[in-house]
Amino acid sequence: MLTNNIWKINGQPMNNTIKRIWERFLIIISQRKQQVNMNVVTVNPLFKTSLSTLDVLVESILKNELIRQTTSLNLIASENLVSKAVLEAQNNVFINKYAEGYPGSRYYGGCMFADELEKVAIDRAKRLFKCEYANVQPHSGSQMNQAVMLALLSPGDTIMGMDLKCGGHLTHGSTVNISGMWFKSVSYGVDLKTGTIDMNEVLNVAIRHRPKLIIAGTTSYPRTIDWKAFRRVADIVDSFLLADISHVAGLIATGLQPSPIDHCDVVTTTTHKSLRGPRGGLILSNKRELFNRLSNAVFPGLQGGPMMNIIAAKAVAFLEAQQDEYRIWTKSVVENAKAMVERFKHKKIDIVSNGTDNHLVMIDLKNLGITGKQVTSWLDRCYITANKNTIPNDLLSANTTSGLRLGTCACTSRGLKKEDFERVADMIADVLLEIKNKGEVSLPLETRTRMEVLDLADKYPICYNV
Ligand SMILES: *Cc1c(COP(=O)(O)O)cnc(C)c1O
Repeated sequence: MLTNNIWKINGQPMNNTIKRIWERFLIIISQRKQQVNMNVVTVNPLFKTSLSTLDVLVESILKNELIRQTTSLNLIASENLVSKAVLEAQNNVFINKYAEGYPGSRYYGGCMFADELEKVAIDRAKRLFKCEYANVQPHSGSQMNQAVMLALLSPGDTIMGMDLKCGGHLTHGSTVNISGMWFKSVSYGVDLKTGTIDMNEVLNVAIRHRPKLIIAGTTSYPRTIDWKAFRRVADIVDSFLLADISHVAGLIATGLQPSPIDHCDVVTTTTHKSLRGPRGGLILSNKRELFNRLSNAVFPGLQGGPMMNIIAAKAVAFLEAQQDEYRIWTKSVVENAKAMVERFKHKKIDIVSNGTDNHLVMIDLKNLGITGKQVTSWLDRCYITANKNTIPNDLLSANTTSGLRLGTCACTSRGLKKEDFERVADMIADVLLEIKNKGEVSLPLETRTRMEVLDLADKYPICYNV
């Protein structure tokens, strides 16, 4: 029954304490097996009843969602498709385990394997982003940013992030978010001519308001951020600098975009966007003293027990992101976005900042006289999934918007090639132009687009066993 593997964790020999405990377990288990008459062993039915027997309703919803994902093209820039290995890794017995605390200092017993798992995830995150400290526990992107604010600020302090319309995130000081309610929030935007961050404005706003925390990082900004320039501003006004790299983390990990880690006090990222892992957050830093404060802010400041089952999937995603296949994938992600931009320009459709450096394509609908809200609902009918987004100088609300945000991560994961993305851009362009000309998408165009989408969907299936 014993294999050599059981004495290894992550290919490494177990440490002696764990090995001793485990050896004792196994001896007792084998002695018991010899004594017990196996006929009297009762397995609680809860371990036997599968989802399809217990709950047809939820099971059918899961199946329907798989069909939706399989039969549509996903261009939502904050989404991706995880690998089979990541999906498998998230579905594990740590769902049962409480592990409040950190490796080596937990508030619960039985944490030896939780400790090993979290250490593996931390080590891989540090190697991936070439940094000294990593906290893998944040349940989400919002919570990782809250933890930074809890660690570094007091209520009423001033924070400075990017204007939501220009690409900032809700958690960077929006008035509808705790970051804008509990802190005084000021913002910088982009140069309206170039669509790129105006570092002079950043400096001016910083000098005027003296924020205690400056946040660089975006959710709908297609260009590269100059981390060094942000550092200079932060030094001038003596503020902390947070880089939230949620969208481009994968491109930074593979060196396609510059890394902020040496220029910032803290770096945060979600793990489910370009990183292609499970839903969650990650906090990185090179500063020991700050990092202790950050970890205390995550737990016990904000969260209780970490989701160790999700941390298993994070660890797997961090491993994947260090492999050649992933590096090649990130390169394709950017090439595919650039290819889409070229097709849109060819069809005289305006692109915010007139191009892209990453996975994002931001379409400016102002000159077409149509709204993001209209466009996304017509695209949905054509089985193309995307989201409306405000753009710099948008006169419309976040609910209507003059912009459409597209991203290439999910479809690149699915296998679509540059030519396919060009085809998809053409389909979207035709839809936009018809909405502009006729106020709607005609039935023939809707049918034609659906057929083309299903063609691509069939060519690149999503093969999950749900
Ligand atoms: C997505 C995102 C977040 C928030 O992530 P959630 O997991 O949805 O809470 C935070 N910051 C940025 C820049 C993001 O893009």
